[in-house]
Amino acid sequence: MLSFDDGPLPVKTEAVLDILSRYTGEDGLPVRAGFFMVGDAPQGFWAGRRYFAPYEVWIHKGSMRRHPALVARVQDEGHVIGNHTAHHIWARWPHYRQLPTVREEILGWEDAAMSAGWDPAESPRLFRAPYLLNTSTMHAAAIQLGYQLIGGYTVGDAAPGNGLSAIERHVQRIMHTASDQPALLIFHDILPMTVRHLGVIIEGLQRQGHQLQHFDPAGFHD
Ligand SMILES: [Zn+2]
Repeated sequence: MLSFDDGPLPVKTEAVLDILSRYTGEDGLPVRAGFFMVGDAPQGFWAGRRYFAPYEVWIHKGSMRRHPALVARVQDEGHVIGNHTAHHIWARWPHYRQLPTVREEILGWEDAAMSAGWDPAESPRLFRAPYLLNTSTMHAAAIQLGYQLIGGYTVGDAAPGNGLSAIERHVQRIMHTASDQPALLIFHDILPMTVRHLGVIIEGLQRQGHQLQHFDPAGFHD
């Protein structure tokens, strides 16, 4: 199963959607993935941050609030959207060790998501912690707000310096060691790296006999 974090961004998310539309799941229909989106990243927000990984300074995160048409396209094409907090918070920052501020981030995502057409009555409540930092506070806030926590295996596309061969090695290791059936892979649809190599990676897996499956949160626990 495939999932994509940190979008939506024009051009890049659209390219990922175009690529996904070329591949089918077990039922022969275009494969459906999970998209764990960032609610809103206002202009200038990232520049003022001092508590996230330094290599991220120059990576633009997505924004549901700024790109509602992309949110609509993701949903129209059958993909599932999940909560990745309003501002992609770094849970180890002291500010986010408190339940109310984390709840605010999760609820802030819902505001942004609803403004972009996400319907809480029609959508599963899925949460993936940014950086997969499932601190006890993060966990408690998500559960309180009725979310299912979704983990997964990072393919390494967000690590600086990783090219196609590093990602392919990562994916190989995941496919050999993953205890979940099927393994849920985590890509980032905001990265040129992912856009450039996604098709090659999928086809490499298919050649080895792996099958794409539709993203389905049932049976996933973190
Ligand atoms: Zn993320």
